Amino acid sequence: MNYILEAEGLNTFYGRSHILFDVNLSVYPGETVCLMGRNGAGKTTSFRSIMGLTPPKKGKVIFKGKQCTGMPSYKMARMGMGFVPEDRRIFGPLTVRENLELGKIPGRKGRWTMETVLEHFPTIELCRDRLGGSLSGGEQQMLTIARALMGNPDLLVLDEPTEGLAPVIVAVLKELIRSLKSAQTTILLSEQNIRFAMGVSDRVVVIDKGHVVYTGTMEEFRKQEAVQKTYLAV
Ligand code: ATP
Repeated sequence: MNYILEAEGLNTFYGRSHILFDVNLSVYPGETVCLMGRNGAGKTTSFRSIMGLTPPKKGKVIFKGKQCTGMPSYKMARMGMGFVPEDRRIFGPLTVRENLELGKIPGRKGRWTMETVLEHFPTIELCRDRLGGSLSGGEQQMLTIARALMGNPDLLVLDEPTEGLAPVIVAVLKELIRSLKSAQTTILLSEQNIRFAMGVSDRVVVIDKGHVVYTGTMEEFRKQEAVQKTYLAV
């Protein structure tokens, strides 16, 4: 099977600071891959490099067989990459439905419509007429994921979806991601929450100080206590 996403040898800088060093990361269709690492390890920078928001100085990004290194993020979105950034960016003065409408991408059609998205996200359905700004952190996180699905992405990229959420909401999010997986959604996410990652991912890539230090299946990773202790907060 061919990868849907391949990032090869990414080297990314902020000004003169070299942040990513030869980062390799790949995703097969239908998989959930988790990029794990501590605060500041380089997870967000990896996703920004892939999305063309901070293009890498060296390295390649291949999405659906096409070279798209440094391609602007709106073009990546049109190609089917649905990015949910860490800072959520809900439009506060717009209703939940209006926020969802904004997730539509011209030319991209598929199983996700307003109806199917609301069916899949009962929490969002319940507050569909409320203003985005009045939602709780957990509801906002669900809304950003739901909004990304409105663009019928081939790959959903979630940057630290559990950040700042209460444990009970994290549990709801886990169920949601599992249900998206069973609906054959391909997901790349980043996490520091090791238990959450273990509950949803098929494969793991661990990053530390901008270097990939471990890649393996979740089954293998569970036995890697030394890797977990050294590179993640356990
Ligand atoms: P976090 O959980 O804090 O988001 P992360 O693993 O996503 O961590 P990055 O945000 O990718 O990490 O940061 C990687 C490194 O790049 C850190 O050392 C950070 O201080 C640095 N960095 C991030 N953004 C910038 C920037 N705009 N300018 C300079 N350095 C930056």
